[in-house]
Amino acid sequence: VLRLAALREGIRAVPDFPVPGVVFRDLTPLLADRAAFAACIEALASPWRGQDVQAVCGIESRGFIFGAALARELDAGFVPLRKPGKLPPPVVEVDYALEYGTDRLQARNDALRPGQRTLLIDDVLATGGTLCAARALVARLGGALLGAQVVVELDALRGRMRWGEGAPLRALLHF
Ligand code: IMP
Repeated sequence: VLRLAALREGIRAVPDFPVPGVVFRDLTPLLADRAAFAACIEALASPWRGQDVQAVCGIESRGFIFGAALARELDAGFVPLRKPGKLPPPVVEVDYALEYGTDRLQARNDALRPGQRTLLIDDVLATGGTLCAARALVARLGGALLGAQVVVELDALRGRMRWGEGAPLRALLHF
């Protein structure tokens, strides 16, 4: 098995993308490396094994890649939380603030059964706005949130503070 240090090498830092001053973390080299991708999914799954995860909710769009593989690894179903305008009605939705403007996440209104044991997944935690909106959407769907998992946490952006106490938030790698 690869160590976490080897997984880090699959993440490329892209300076000044998408805007000057931001260092974008690009996870596509990790995905393209079969050993790294397998080790990543295994490491994402391991803290949640034995917790009877029934649904993995992935956030569009990179959360789908990790989420679908994680759902299979945990023998759970996969539920996409989508950007607006992608899902046919009826949907439930949560609006959230961005640095400039707002965005929205939607899910099918019956995407989770009441009390269904649910894990949230995304690729990168930055300010935490997206993950907190996803948590609100799971609540609106009636799911029982076991916690959230991300591949990368950008510590300086304090998303973990925004998430707060309560359901555990786990990150595989920190930058
Ligand atoms: P937040 O809402 O500020 O936490 O931003 C998290 C969302 O933006 C996630 O859905 C990520 O996919 C995306 N994101 C933010 N920064 C990066 C990055 O450096 N690389 C890849 N995705 C990012």
